[in-house]
Amino acid sequence: MPTWLVTGGAGFIGGNFVLEAATSGIRVINLDALTYAGNIDTLAPLRDDPNHVLVHGDIGDRGLVDRLLTEHRPQAVINFAAESHVDRSIDGPGAFIQTNVVGTLALLEASRDYWKLLDDTVKEAFRFLHVSTDEVYGSLGDTGKFTEDTAFAPNSPYSASKAASDHLVRAFHHTYGLPVVTTNCSNNYGPYQFPEKLIPLIIARALAGEPLPIYGDGKNVRDWLYVGDHCSAIRAVLAGGRVGETYNVGGDAEMQNIQVVNAICALLDQRCPRDDGQPRNSQITYVTDRPGHDRRYAIDASKLKRELGWSPARDFEQGIADTVDWYLDNQPWVERVLDGSYRLERIGGVAA
Ligand code: NAD
Repeated sequence: MPTWLVTGGAGFIGGNFVLEAATSGIRVINLDALTYAGNIDTLAPLRDDPNHVLVHGDIGDRGLVDRLLTEHRPQAVINFAAESHVDRSIDGPGAFIQTNVVGTLALLEASRDYWKLLDDTVKEAFRFLHVSTDEVYGSLGDTGKFTEDTAFAPNSPYSASKAASDHLVRAFHHTYGLPVVTTNCSNNYGPYQFPEKLIPLIIARALAGEPLPIYGDGKNVRDWLYVGDHCSAIRAVLAGGRVGETYNVGGDAEMQNIQVVNAICALLDQRCPRDDGQPRNSQITYVTDRPGHDRRYAIDASKLKRELGWSPARDFEQGIADTVDWYLDNQPWVERVLDGSYRLERIGGVAA
């Protein structure tokens, strides 16, 4: 049975990835610091599964990572662990540098030292897969898409820290020969996303009858990808991606924020209308824009399609309906992760 060391596997994307991997015959060693964004409730289906070992710890803890690698002998390290919320990076960039840059460096060093001593056949098959974002490329105008050759131009402390980690991953291949692959993915949505991010935040506030805050004019564009499709892309890159390469991952689903919010409101109106019969989009309120808010992201994922035959299984219409249904069916999960430290309020350096 293959063994993978997965970091950040109690978070949104890592959690979805681990749930799928552990039930498909992979032994998963899941290293997660269980920050506010890491929730063991997400992993409840694996509670008694011997294929899943949850380790509470930091990717920057070199001694711990060395021990996990030596003890479990994984064939791959998949790095999801990160501070991931742009708004939080505006209020406090330090934690982003610590985990995303310093932590990733420690993980790379430990992986390199472990990989160097592997037998030749295992050594060749080993992969360090780094999960990154399209935000490293900066912002687009009205046209064009990010390709793997687009120059990095990160605009937020979050994207700058991810860009730095991507560069370190690349350097560890070129300098030490570590077999790395990197994925740069667009905005994800789906089950188990912490309700500070746009889609689950809007669902939660809409159900609570609260105002639905839209940054700026609401016309910032993101390319949305259902989380299960991101996970399938990572599996494809792990299995067949060329060492040292980066792969863009996206859903060909460009949407303005206001369109996303209107779609959620319409789905909620169908599934659980407000008592007073008013449409949920009457709760929309425009608020001061995020400082440095990137205008548009769009991904050209043709390399991944061409080389590895990957394409997303869900379009936005299906994915957002499934996501709204998941949140309606899993309100106890939402209540548990909102343990009091975050109450759906605005963060990110601007008063609401
Ligand atoms: P998330 O915030 O939901 O989860 C991050 C996880 O990492 C949490 O479980 C947290 O406890 C853990 N973590 C944080 N610091 C850690 C540390 N020092 N050591 C160990 N674990 C630590 O994030 P997500 O949305 O699931 O994103 C996962 C990865 O995918 C990130 O690297 C992010 O940059 C990238 N990404 C996210 C998106 C998106 O739309 N969410 C898009 C593209 C790429």
